[in-house]
Amino acid sequence: MERLQKILAQAGVASRRKCEELILAGKVEVNGEVVTALGTKADPANDVIKVSGKPISGENKIYIIFNKPKGVITSASDPKGRKIVTDYMKGIKERVYPIGRLDYDTEGLLLLTNDGEFANLLTHPKHHVPKTYLATVKGVPHGTSLDKLKEGVKLEDGMTAPAEVEYKDINEDGKESVISITIHEGRNRQVRRMFEAISHPVIRLKRISFGDLLLQNLKRGTYRHLTKEEIESLR
Ligand code: URA
Repeated sequence: MERLQKILAQAGVASRRKCEELILAGKVEVNGEVVTALGTKADPANDVIKVSGKPISGENKIYIIFNKPKGVITSASDPKGRKIVTDYMKGIKERVYPIGRLDYDTEGLLLLTNDGEFANLLTHPKHHVPKTYLATVKGVPHGTSLDKLKEGVKLEDGMTAPAEVEYKDINEDGKESVISITIHEGRNRQVRRMFEAISHPVIRLKRISFGDLLLQNLKRGTYRHLTKEEIESLR
């Protein structure tokens, strides 16, 4: 929440002094109500603010796909001073934040935005966005073990929803295998806990898709802006 005159001045309406005059003159509306008190606060991201009936242009909404390296925190700050995802957002002047999270040791596709409504939509449990991971696990799970993941396994916070699971690769010596798993939920450390439940702990985890969006060959530690079509495909 910020003072209305500051929001107006930052949106380029006029100087702060002139914006105060506009407020006192009853020219400014917040969510359909005329506001004449100078101390009034508003939320530039969510409130509809109009001057003489015209909406002010809000903050530029941006949508980013990032290939998170392992050893990076999915957070906008870290009290322990570890590397955080926004350290990689050089060249982005807007304040963006991650949509959902990846563990410190998980790499791959992470979305960031300054559009709170969009972020809420995609992280809402009802939305069920499918997310695909490549999991390198210890040993080679039996088909029957993978069937358990497909049907749902019991974790300490309840049964998981059915997942799509597929073998991708088996190391020559059979010590590790790579399995692709698509889940429709987003519980804490869910994929790692699912593989622990079948006694094949995860050694390496990489998210390769989110909804229709694919990580493809985006280089590790780099980002790009989503296209309009990509943003629409996620809504
Ligand atoms: N599941 C996990 O276990 N970790 C992640 O980072 C994402 C999904």
